[in-house]
Amino acid sequence: MEARGELGPGRESAGGDLLLALLARREDLRREIPLCAGCDQHILDRFILKALDRHWHSKCLRCSDCHAPLAERCFSRGESVYCKDDFFKRFGTKCAACQLGIPPTQVVRRAQDFVYHLHCFACVVCKRQLATGDEFYLMEDSRLVCKADYETAKQREAEATAKRPGRARPSRPSSWRR
Ligand SMILES: [Zn+2]
Ligand SMILES: [Zn+2]
Ligand SMILES: [Zn+2]
Ligand SMILES: [Zn+2]
Repeated sequence: MEARGELGPGRESAGGDLLLALLARREDLRREIPLCAGCDQHILDRFILKALDRHWHSKCLRCSDCHAPLAERCFSRGESVYCKDDFFKRFGTKCAACQLGIPPTQVVRRAQDFVYHLHCFACVVCKRQLATGDEFYLMEDSRLVCKADYETAKQREAEATAKRPGRARPSRPSSWRR
């Protein structure tokens, strides 16, 4: 993960109309007041945010994806800033089931090299979420099947391949072929 910016409280600047009035007249003073990278206006707020090596009004620094104000912490990649959730949705480790990124603080499940959201760690047949200690089978395409469904499928497969004239053959899902 590259740049992870932490927003400090910023430095305080004296605010108010008085300052604005002064600014209008005093060229030298105007240079002292930082310009906001978002709106290009002087920042006369009590707090100035700093991100991407530039200054921002707290109302101007927003997540590129959800546009939520980024008051406490922001994550950047290139020229864009994101809230934590959106940053990891874009750039985090991808869940093998839903393909969305997973924030590092979230509890995950693993099966071999695959990582899953807790709620995505479920059997593709019965949709039941697999709990710790549950037996499951990992298919080649990273899908998971609970033991019961796997065995049912195996049995159907055995029945289908056995020579039993007159019996209808259930079709078998392609992923169980091996
Ligand atoms: Zn601004
Ligand atoms: Zn966001
Ligand atoms: Zn997921
Ligand atoms: Zn199942």
